Amino acid sequence: MNPFIGNRLYIDLSSGEIRIEPQDPTFSRKFLGGRGFTSRLNYELNPKELDPLSPDNVLVIAPGALSGSPAFSSARFVVGTRSPLTGIFGDANGGGFWGAYLRRAGFSTVILRGKAEKPVYIRIDDQNVSIHDASHLWGRDTHETTELLQAELGKEFSVATIGPAGENLVRIAGIVVDKDHLAARCGVGAVMGSKNLKAIAVRAKQAFPIADRERFLRAVARLRELEVDDARLKDFSRRGTLGTLMDHHTLLGGTNTMNFQYGQFKGKEKIDGEALIKQYLVKTTGCYTCPTKCDRYSMVTEGEFAGTVVGGPEYCTAVAFGSGIGNDNLAAILKGNDLADRLGLDTLDLGGVLAFSFELYQRGILTDQDTEGLDLTWGNYHAALELVRRIAYREGYLGETLAHGVKGAAEIIGKNSERYAVHVKGLTPAPLDARVVKVYNFRYAVSPRGGDHLRISAPGAYGLDDLPIDEAVRHLHSWESIITLPDLMGVCKFPYTYYTATTDITIEKMLNIIPELYSSATGFDVDKEELMEAAMRVNHLERAYNARLGLRAKDDILPPRFTEDPMPEGPAKGKVYDILEPIREAWYRQHGWDEEGVPTRQTLIDYGLEDILEDLERHGVTVK
Ligand code: SF4
Repeated sequence: MNPFIGNRLYIDLSSGEIRIEPQDPTFSRKFLGGRGFTSRLNYELNPKELDPLSPDNVLVIAPGALSGSPAFSSARFVVGTRSPLTGIFGDANGGGFWGAYLRRAGFSTVILRGKAEKPVYIRIDDQNVSIHDASHLWGRDTHETTELLQAELGKEFSVATIGPAGENLVRIAGIVVDKDHLAARCGVGAVMGSKNLKAIAVRAKQAFPIADRERFLRAVARLRELEVDDARLKDFSRRGTLGTLMDHHTLLGGTNTMNFQYGQFKGKEKIDGEALIKQYLVKTTGCYTCPTKCDRYSMVTEGEFAGTVVGGPEYCTAVAFGSGIGNDNLAAILKGNDLADRLGLDTLDLGGVLAFSFELYQRGILTDQDTEGLDLTWGNYHAALELVRRIAYREGYLGETLAHGVKGAAEIIGKNSERYAVHVKGLTPAPLDARVVKVYNFRYAVSPRGGDHLRISAPGAYGLDDLPIDEAVRHLHSWESIITLPDLMGVCKFPYTYYTATTDITIEKMLNIIPELYSSATGFDVDKEELMEAAMRVNHLERAYNARLGLRAKDDILPPRFTEDPMPEGPAKGKVYDILEPIREAWYRQHGWDEEGVPTRQTLIDYGLEDILEDLERHGVTVK
């Protein structure tokens, strides 16, 4: 084993076989870690024809190359698989402590396949790995499971677990880490549930191995200098995603309100970051080695929801239980957040199905008979909370239907409900309305996992609508590798890219400090060009993954809510998404993809993906 790049852990849950192998250094350097490893292995191990909820679907987990290191905010890990929600490329990114411990335990990749005969959990104690009966945990919520496992194994174990939603194969189920951090997206929790795998508990007694410690710590010291006086980062720490994003998006007239029917919520002041600080915020907390501490920790002490204690809410969650369903009761939002965490649900897609069902009720497409007595009138948070429970347990017609996510639910409901279904390739987009910030939100259309906001960004992205499309696309593309790199390194995008005071600080962190950290940690001597190339390689690879499945330009679209309905009021009144075709063309061209969005032969060769090229051709994909 090369301790600086970690081992691979293979577990076949059908046979119970556990195998540990050294990570191949060439593979390691080419794909770096985290999303690089999961995307590559997801391509390699999951064939074109595959039922995502079958034992054959491989779940790959990878902390980033720097996860668990003394570098700030080195908390992230990625889970990659075929998504049961979308049927295509799927992954989810999580924080907390678990991924950092996994890397410190000596693993840079975990590959899970098969299905256990009965519920099990996996115990990872440094390099000692074992599988155990989890029948006493099955049916428990994520908090109970975490507490029971920590009581059994010791408080030093960090726990990643599914809740009842994952057990019940709800396609919007996530994996909950350390109680309130989620690897949320693409239904990864349902894949874990389909394997009868309840939880993975990890303890790391060893420190993160560093090839050149002195050099590494010099780079960390430089990070500290940059962060200590960063006013924007401090503001983010105080207000979190809820405070910063809800304010900004409301100003633009683009905060998802009532299933994106509107862009400003009249009750915003009752549910925003300042309202939280005044009424319920107890403290802010942070993930592994993160001085930014952007996580909210909130408590309700009186009223109907007294006793609710929750890590949150994030902006997306506040929209899911707030403006998205027309609810201005902040305590109810906290209750919904807690419920979703305990049941193990992705609050973005959960918000998607809640808002969708409320709109269908508004339009008479869902009736009282369909809802079995639930009054889905906008603002009725009691109904929303009950619906969350029904979804997690797939109870009744509506619970069962919405457990498929927005797209699947629309297919079941029929009656032209797809017209009001806001999703891209089956995944619910973030709360920022695509009509309002058009160039930037093109990301929803082209992300490999569907309506995703986390793969494409750039400084000044909100102002790109003022530029000619080609120029705007060039700018976004020029930043794509930088925005990808944190996913490979296992560091958090917030302090490294999104919330720095200046572009120069982002560049200093990503193009000078990260190469230093990676080189000194692994002993590979890499420069920024090599890292940028590796990051772009992963983007091409993910594109090829979906191309193999048959996805083409016709699939890179936005829902009719954005392309056909003009925004009815507010600062963005009258706006509709009308630049899809030209921006898509420019995006493909910029990447070296053909007019259908398939990476060209030359692009695949340039990025060292010759085997992917051969594989695509073997599958009958025309590669130009
Ligand atoms: S900035 Fe927030 S999400 Fe990112 S590592 Fe720190 S606490 Fe976690």
